[in-house]
Amino acid sequence: MEKAIFLDRDGTINEEMGYINHISRFHIFPFTFEALKVFKKCGYKLVVITNQAGLARGYFSEDVLRDVHGMLEKRARDAGVPLDKIYFCPHLPGAPVKKYDRMCNCRKPKTGMLEQARDELNIDLSRSVMIGDRYKDVLFGKKMGLKTVMVLTGYGKGEYTYQKEQWKEKPDIVADNLLDAAMKICQPKG
Ligand SMILES: [Mg+2]
Ligand SMILES: [Zn+2]
Repeated sequence: MEKAIFLDRDGTINEEMGYINHISRFHIFPFTFEALKVFKKCGYKLVVITNQAGLARGYFSEDVLRDVHGMLEKRARDAGVPLDKIYFCPHLPGAPVKKYDRMCNCRKPKTGMLEQARDELNIDLSRSVMIGDRYKDVLFGKKMGLKTVMVLTGYGKGEYTYQKEQWKEKPDIVADNLLDAAMKICQPKG
């Protein structure tokens, strides 16, 4: 069994820009691949798990999403840290694009994508980590027994600053960004 880092996409590995309806809006953080190298070196598989309801809303097409993920995968390969898999949920109940109008099992915080990754990639979730910029990413990871990290990029800083008093669960680690998360997970001090 393998261990994995599960990465939210928007706000965690790239700038939160709202809907990425053109590849020009996909800005990978300058520290992302350095962070992925640290994770890989300490033995984690790298899996991206992202809700992309913009597909269901008709805000962008599968072609755009394919281009964006193709670029991300290529950049990761070129940096020597190929991603093991990108999972995305295109669904939304009541959405205008009928083929994605569904109450699915994969839209975070539902756990379908984690279960699929566990089964397809032979991952031990109890040794794995979920990293995201939203409280809902923390809840999502906790549901399946993962360690959770909240990064303060994307929506993270605002949610953490103004909403944490209301949270029922706390992230195991709070990190400034993905690289800080990698250091805290893989090279803990003292
Ligand atoms: Mg996010
Ligand atoms: Zn779904």
